[in-house]
Amino acid sequence: MAAVWPRRLALVVAPASGESFASWVDRMALRNGCPPWTVVEALGLDVSVASDVRSLAYGVLTTPEMCGAVEAATGVSSEVVRGMHLEVFDGSVLDLAGVRVGDKGSVRRAEGREWVQFFGSRVCPTCLAASGGVWPAWWKLGWAAVCPVHRTLLVDLCPRCRVAVRRGPAGQPARLSRSRMPAPLQCGALLSGTVCDQSIPQISTSSVSGKLADQQHLVLEAATHHRPALIAGQVVSAGQWFAVLKATAMLVRLGVPEVLPLLEAPLDGQGALAAEAGGQRWNRAGPVGRFGMAPRTALVAAGLLAAALEVAAAESESELETRLMPLAAAARMRWKERRPGLLTRVALPSVFTAALDAVLGEQARRQ
Ligand SMILES: [Zn+2]
Ligand SMILES: [Zn+2]
Repeated sequence: MAAVWPRRLALVVAPASGESFASWVDRMALRNGCPPWTVVEALGLDVSVASDVRSLAYGVLTTPEMCGAVEAATGVSSEVVRGMHLEVFDGSVLDLAGVRVGDKGSVRRAEGREWVQFFGSRVCPTCLAASGGVWPAWWKLGWAAVCPVHRTLLVDLCPRCRVAVRRGPAGQPARLSRSRMPAPLQCGALLSGTVCDQSIPQISTSSVSGKLADQQHLVLEAATHHRPALIAGQVVSAGQWFAVLKATAMLVRLGVPEVLPLLEAPLDGQGALAAEAGGQRWNRAGPVGRFGMAPRTALVAAGLLAAALEVAAAESESELETRLMPLAAAARMRWKERRPGLLTRVALPSVFTAALDAVLGEQARRQ
């Protein structure tokens, strides 16, 4: 059966390097003077059945059919189209196993589990202004804390309406709009019938250390396989490297507040970690899942990033143990005999589990 491709869009905008799919669609909608729904339909996505972003796995996953249709409509290659989706991080910083286009539940489950905002984003206002409204996909990652170029903390919330940036109307991911034109430089949250017109480039940010900016850069290189992943001098997979970061983040959270003075994290990052622990009312004897959840704010992410990268930077097994030791001691102090089984769900490299065994005691880890 011959496929019927949609007609080419009148005006195609070239995707920027690292740009997210939703950002590209929005810029194309502006150029063509039509709402995003119309662009997505012209690209050949199946919006007639459901224009719900979760059902479409919008910006998350592609299918070969979809890539072919987009290439036919725009001339942009399948590889570039796939590269604008979060699936470029699958196997490194994300695990999208089980997520399927057309299966809303599978998207929702991964959304709750993975360190990512499928339908929201953090933002560097200065980068956004400089690019004229390009939203990179990596701003969606849970590990996205600071802009390595401008050395500033990324922004989570619109200061005017307090809605998380790019989460959609009233903070809920929505259907693609059939009527509203996108405004890449504005907040755009829809509240009680009015649209928040906060200019994102005018949102102020706080500066961070050069060290934290470098650590963020390193995380991005590992996420995109642009550098070999090393733990204690041993080559591991990018997925294992991020598992170590996540496990260390869990260990840090288990040790709040005793662990805070021991961290290299910026002072306000420590405060954010303390506030997170205080605000969550975690069930202290409960499963460790809550400690592995995505950082809700860029500040929490910055605190965890600084602590985890210190551990990941250890160059030998003994150095790794030395760096884990104080974190483990703080976690122990807080949890005493009721500490939960730790870090069992992630695929950690053996060099890291051996170091954990040494500092926590084998039983603690397997409990
Ligand atoms: Zn920036
Ligand atoms: Zn707003």
